[in-house]
Amino acid sequence: MASSQIFMRFRPFAHVFIARAASFLIAITPAAWAAPYAGPLLDAHLHYNEEAWNGQVGPHPPGDVLERMQRNGVKAMVANSRPNDGTQALALAAGEARQAGAVQAPKVLPFVRLYRNRADYQSWFRDASTDEMVQAELARGTPAGPYRGIGEFHLYDSNDANGPVAAKLMALADARALVVLAHVDDVAIDLLMAHTPSKGQTLRLIWAHTGISGVPVARVSALLDKYPRLMGELSYRPGLTCASEKGGDELCPEWRALLLKYPTRFMVGSDTWVNQRWLYYDELMQGYRQWLGDLPPDVARNIAWNNGARLFDLPLTEQ
Ligand SMILES: [Zn+2]
Repeated sequence: MASSQIFMRFRPFAHVFIARAASFLIAITPAAWAAPYAGPLLDAHLHYNEEAWNGQVGPHPPGDVLERMQRNGVKAMVANSRPNDGTQALALAAGEARQAGAVQAPKVLPFVRLYRNRADYQSWFRDASTDEMVQAELARGTPAGPYRGIGEFHLYDSNDANGPVAAKLMALADARALVVLAHVDDVAIDLLMAHTPSKGQTLRLIWAHTGISGVPVARVSALLDKYPRLMGELSYRPGLTCASEKGGDELCPEWRALLLKYPTRFMVGSDTWVNQRWLYYDELMQGYRQWLGDLPPDVARNIAWNNGARLFDLPLTEQ
């Protein structure tokens, strides 16, 4: 293990190392880590599914979730859940916390999820009852106000983007200025956009994971050029970070270049799709703060907060 790796592994004791052996460390450490990004975060991809909390029992009741966000500086989150009751409960809890004087309670940006159960993942795009459920939920709204979007939904076969319910919901989202959160491949991005009245020119679509199968950077870039309101969410994105000589992870060169080329088009998210992701919520957010700190401050601030704030009309002045 290199000395620099030892240094990283025992970071809490870094001051001891620095005090005792500063000149030695400076001599063998190739470059210093930038300070982690310290501003607000917007979690653009969050689930509050029934196994986290079903309304009565579960390891992560709303108070636990809000506490995790507060201690990580997460000031707003795109919330959706299977079934939608979880989003409703989280919206209610955040509002109550704010009224009780916990002004730090994060803002809930509720999205209608298309899933009542796991079976719906495979059939929602052609199931008329999915559409009925979405319409009823949109009409119902949430304690945090009207729904702001639709998703996350999955398309495991891109051709299913042409299913009748998928086509109808994309047209609805474009017409009603609802944001879409979609876990799809690059082919399905084109197909979904084609179903909108604007042919994708005005649809605000957050591409979950920005291509989880590792869509090439050049293709991501081409889609961002083609659809001016397409946004990339970066959880689980293959190739985003690389092992650093400094001992941790840092942005890989081609992704760093892409983020710098499109500083207003990317966001970060937790994707709490299983309870384990809640257990590691702190580490996930610390990981984002680490590589964000390696970017120019204005770009880091955009990806962490401003891009989502512009999408959802939140204050750009959030601290
Ligand atoms: Zn997800």
